[in-house]
Formats: sequence, C-alpha cells, structure tokens
Amino acid sequence: MKAQDKAAIVTGGGSGLGAATARRLAAEGAKVALLDVNLDQAEKVAAEIGGIAIACDVSSADAAQAAVTQAADAHGDARILVNCAGIAPASRVVGREAPHDLDLFRKVIEVNLVGSFNMLRLVADRAAKLDPLEDGERAIIVSTASVAAFDGQIGQAAYSASKGGVHAMALPIARELARFGIRVNTIAPGIFGTPMVKAMPQEVQDSLAASIPFPSRLGTPEEYASLVMHMVENVMLNGETVRLDGAIRMAP
Ligand code: NAD
Repeated sequence: MKAQDKAAIVTGGGSGLGAATARRLAAEGAKVALLDVNLDQAEKVAAEIGGIAIACDVSSADAAQAAVTQAADAHGDARILVNCAGIAPASRVVGREAPHDLDLFRKVIEVNLVGSFNMLRLVADRAAKLDPLEDGERAIIVSTASVAAFDGQIGQAAYSASKGGVHAMALPIARELARFGIRVNTIAPGIFGTPMVKAMPQEVQDSLAASIPFPSRLGTPEEYASLVMHMVENVMLNGETVRLDGAIRMAP
C-alpha cells in the first residue's frame, strides 16, 4: 500500500490512460488531483473516485503553478506525479493537403514535452522540501512517452520528437533528483484502447492490434495503470523507460 494517503497528481486524468491511473491510485488509497484542459471529463472521473479536478493546460507555467498549489492546498504536496496529458495530431513535413506547419510542431512539443517537464519541475521542487519517507524516498514521477519515441511512423515527426524528449530527459533528471529521494521513470506505451486510439478508423485499430505479436489486441488502460503502480512500489526502478507494447515494432 505504498500509495496509501499520499497526494497524487495525474495530468490528462480526464481520459484514457490518465483516468485509469487516477482510478487505480485512488483504489490504492491515494488522494488524487486530476489536471486536465477538459475540466468536464476530469470532474466526472474525480467524482467517481473522490478526487479533485483542476482545469489546467500543463504547458502553461502559470496555469501549472496554480494547479499544483491548488492540489497541495487540498491534499498536501504531491508525492506521486503521473504525466499523462498529451496530444497526437498527425503531421507532415511537406504537402499542402496536410501541411505540417511550424505552429503544429511547436504545439505538440509544448504539450507533450514542455508540459511534462513543467509539471515535473513544479512537483519536484516542492517534494524536495518534504520529509523523506520509507527508503529515504520523497516522491516518484512517472511520465508517458510512446513507442513512437523509438520507431515513429510517417506523420509522427512532431509526436515522436516530443516523446523522444520525454524519454531522454528522464535519466539526467533522475540522476539530478536522486539526492532528494525523488525517482523519475517513463512508460513507453504501444497501442492502447483509449479515446486517442479509438478516434482512428476501426480497420486501422484492427490492423494495429493484429501487428502486436502477443497479445494481439490493444492494451487496456488498466494495464498501463498497473505498471504505474509497479513503478510507485519498486524503489529500485529509477531513470528507466519501460516499453509496454506486446513486443510491437512498427513497420514504416
Ligand atoms: P486521451 O486523449 O484519451 O487523454 C489525454 C488527456 O490529456 C485528455 O483528457 C486531454 O484533455 C488531456 N490533455 C490534452 N492536452 C492537455 C494539456 N495541454 N494540458 C492538460 N491536459 C491535456 O489519450 P491517452 O491515450 O490516454 O494518452 C495518454 C498519454 O499516453 C498521452 O501522452 C499519449 O501521447 C500517450 N500514449 C498513448 C498511447 C495510446 O495508444 N493510447 C500510446 C502511446 C502513448
């Protein structure tokens, strides 16, 4: 029961992997704050699990600062942060029909990479001042990359770059924060059955599922949340990116 009574923040908590993580952390006894740009969705999940929902664009320094303060006022400083907020718009480098303009590239980097860093730094800064708990630990941070960080598909330049950054920053930050007893890990999901993926045509979902060697189905948000819990519980796991993908390796 490592999460029992701990304050937890889950970004993107209103949907998909974040919602499942919020539910699991609450079931493990954590006091959960769900941060999301979509407040309605976050409020629904919060009401279900007895948590709180806070409207927040994680890429905004001011909004994230205010949200972390609001969460701390309600629950105490967070000892668990799970970064799930993310967007995955298709992007192209050339072609008028799907112009990949610079603004879109910047937006994806801002939300997925800068947003994760922004939340991480705010939570870590407060956690570093807390009393250490068991094993000298003060906090655990889990961010969400993607297998697209390693083998991105056509149309995923911005998304892959953002997720590659989430993966790459974890180890240096884990090393920096080690002396405070703050761990940083990353999950790189394959293909999960969330609204982000369910928005794709059914035949695309079916072919993605079939391309997963085993099990040949989409991952469930609960399977993602289960790995988050393992990362919370296993103090030896630090600075690591774990692929959770059924051994999928994407063809170009
Ligand atoms: P989702 O679309 O179901 O949920 C994402 C949530 O993030 C939404 O509630 C959305 O409102 C919120 N959000 C978006 N921009 C935000 C912002 N700027 N600030 C705060 N909240 C914001 O997606 P999901 O599938 O649950 O994805 C969760 C994370 O997992 C994302 O980072 C995604 O890139 C990553 N991921 C998902 C898959 C998958 O197969 N579903 C695979 C690899 C990685």
